[in-house]
Amino acid sequence: MMPPLPNHKHNKKNTTRLPLPDGTDGDYHCPACQRRWFSEDTVKWAVCKYFTLAGCTPYPANQMKREGDIRVTHALNREEWIIEAKGQIPAGNEHAAFKEGMGQIVMARNLRSPHLLYALAMPKVHPFPQETAQIDASDLHYLRLHWIWVIRRQAADSTVFEVQIVCPPGSTCECQKRLGTFSFG
Ligand SMILES: [Zn+2]
Ligand SMILES: [Zn+2]
Repeated sequence: MMPPLPNHKHNKKNTTRLPLPDGTDGDYHCPACQRRWFSEDTVKWAVCKYFTLAGCTPYPANQMKREGDIRVTHALNREEWIIEAKGQIPAGNEHAAFKEGMGQIVMARNLRSPHLLYALAMPKVHPFPQETAQIDASDLHYLRLHWIWVIRRQAADSTVFEVQIVCPPGSTCECQKRLGTFSFG
């Protein structure tokens, strides 16, 4: 392995993509210094897997209709999710990505229905927990905005993902309790 170059800068061209369990592109990875970035694609994959295990039907949303990145429906009830996903980016600005995600949620709120649940899905790594801590509880309540955290644990010979759903303050939806907790790889 080459030693890390002093001051080498990362971008989408000098990084490669690590495959997800389904073979699609997951994290960004720098072959020179082995650094990796928990990408939006990894977050989307884990969120879809979670909702499938919970008995829901996730599918890619219509971006033109401002429906977020992922829509989730349930065969047996009228619950529907509009989920915007964000992740780490080589040489990227996660603060700007988070702000953009919040903006996309506000736009998606043009779709008004009491059955709609909104969420911003992110990897539970820096700087996302710090970003969410800056948002007022009253805004979360008004936007009916959930945080969906994707957590990756490295076991001896495998990688396991978990998803944590945080309901907005003052809500009674108890999403994690209803949908369940699953570990998957
Ligand atoms: Zn590097
Ligand atoms: Zn909830």
